[in-house]
Amino acid sequence: MYFNPSQISLAGRAFSHAEKLAGRYYRLGDANLNDLRYDVNTLAGLEKHEVSENAFAHLCRYHYQAEREPTKTGGFHFYRICLQDNRILDAVNRACSFIKLPPLLLYIAAHELVHVIRFDAGEGSFDVSPEEKEQEEKRVHKITRQMLSPVIYPDLKIVLDCFGDRLSIGDMFN
Ligand SMILES: [Zn+2]
Repeated sequence: MYFNPSQISLAGRAFSHAEKLAGRYYRLGDANLNDLRYDVNTLAGLEKHEVSENAFAHLCRYHYQAEREPTKTGGFHFYRICLQDNRILDAVNRACSFIKLPPLLLYIAAHELVHVIRFDAGEGSFDVSPEEKEQEEKRVHKITRQMLSPVIYPDLKIVLDCFGDRLSIGDMFN
């Protein structure tokens, strides 16, 4: 099950909205936001290793090194937020009228951006033990809740209530 074109553009809008919210929360200017090295892909465009059976999104980190200087240390990290269309649509369909796609996508976008911002700032680590990942996941969930709680958005509250209770994104445990 893949996102249709209008669901793909909905996901794009969710990320622009989440960027604004994250920018406000972290007091980042446009320049800082533009410096965040990440992109977003949906299931149809994912590589095999970017697909996850039990997550709403899979966060992948890639390291880029300047081609001319392969021996030099440095380079930079780049994050790819891999949306798992089928899992997301399944949650919406399964929960019937409770979970709606737009607020679910907004939650996922905000949550993933918090990860990226924290990794970028060195506040969270990517390569750590499962226990530490779980701690980081809890912190990110808490921050995402704080960031989204003042936002007036249809059916967002039910999504916030479900996460941490019966829904989890699953992004850090792949
Ligand atoms: Zn997460």
